[in-house]
Amino acid sequence: MKIAMFSAKPWVHHAFDPLATSFQAEITWLEPRLEPATVALAAGHDAVCAFVNDQMDTAVVQRLKEIGVRLIALRCAGFNNVDLKAAAGVGMAVVRVPAYSPYSVAEHAVGMMLCLNRRFHRSWARVLEGNFALDGLLGFDMHGKTVGVVGTGKIGQILCKILSGFGCRILAYDTAPNSALVAAGVQYVDLATLYGLSDIISLHCPLTPRTRHMIDGPALDAMKKGVMIINTSRGPLIDTGAVIGALKSGKIGFLGLDVYEEEQELFFEDRSEQVIQDDVFVRLQTFPNVLITAHQAFFTKEAVENIAQTTLENIREFLATGVCKNSVAL
Ligand code: NAD
Repeated sequence: MKIAMFSAKPWVHHAFDPLATSFQAEITWLEPRLEPATVALAAGHDAVCAFVNDQMDTAVVQRLKEIGVRLIALRCAGFNNVDLKAAAGVGMAVVRVPAYSPYSVAEHAVGMMLCLNRRFHRSWARVLEGNFALDGLLGFDMHGKTVGVVGTGKIGQILCKILSGFGCRILAYDTAPNSALVAAGVQYVDLATLYGLSDIISLHCPLTPRTRHMIDGPALDAMKKGVMIINTSRGPLIDTGAVIGALKSGKIGFLGLDVYEEEQELFFEDRSEQVIQDDVFVRLQTFPNVLITAHQAFFTKEAVENIAQTTLENIREFLATGVCKNSVAL
């Protein structure tokens, strides 16, 4: 099976290389993103393998079909960057890795909460400079705080369990509540109640037309002053302009972002020698109570191994049978 591997960073090589022979996979390593300007590189391959910031819009999907590609294999769970309607229209199959390690993302979200709360990022820098003062580092006990979890699927439910261990009260909102979580003490409420009562809000729902900019001005108005917001899901769940306003006013006390609305132009590359052109992103970086990581929540050894294994299984299954259990339906 011939695979055009787009956005092929070193970690992708390390994960897929050891498996390629046993899957009889001929992989073409392509460093650029998949987008209209690069789609021609996929010619002669059975499948393209793409990641979160590759762009599979109508034009790209149609072109892939024209040049004989049979499958879009996403090496991630989210599929918001694929025009599924266009794919269905031209008969292009799309597969994904629905679960590779929900622990990786849930644990990263908890890490962001603790770092922001106890100011690890600031105290680390202080101690390096010989500054051992505690002023400005005052945190709060997680125990007894109310955490609102939006989306209690594979990742959100693990987060609920971890935070229950801290002694937090867990409120949740999901369009499909999970009865096992209710039995474990999680309380499902409507979004307005979750916003109004939570000290910490963590987002774990997919990006859809309904959830785009769910954290906007009115949502922020409904929240407690000093709320902590954590987004490890997808950047556009948050209206960044509204959030910057709420950081300036003090409405948001802490913000942890592993994803960002315009991350396609920034993340996964070393830009340390460049002038960052995105003024909104640069403004976010100026707040002492904002912690940004560059879409690394998934990035554990276990997750990456599972991503490579399941992606190759998906491609093999589809090319052999014409169907795949991990297909993304429209
Ligand atoms: P999942 O499909 O298991 O769970 C998503 C949950 O969201 C489901 O329970 C669903 O019912 C719920 N949901 C759907 N629409 C909703 C809405 N409008 N409001 C509230 N809840 C809604 O997905 P998952 O594996 O838990 O992943 C969640 C998200 O995390 C993914 O969509 C992806 O965007 C993101 N993610 C990020 C990283 C990262 O590295 N930062 C890695 C993996 C996944």
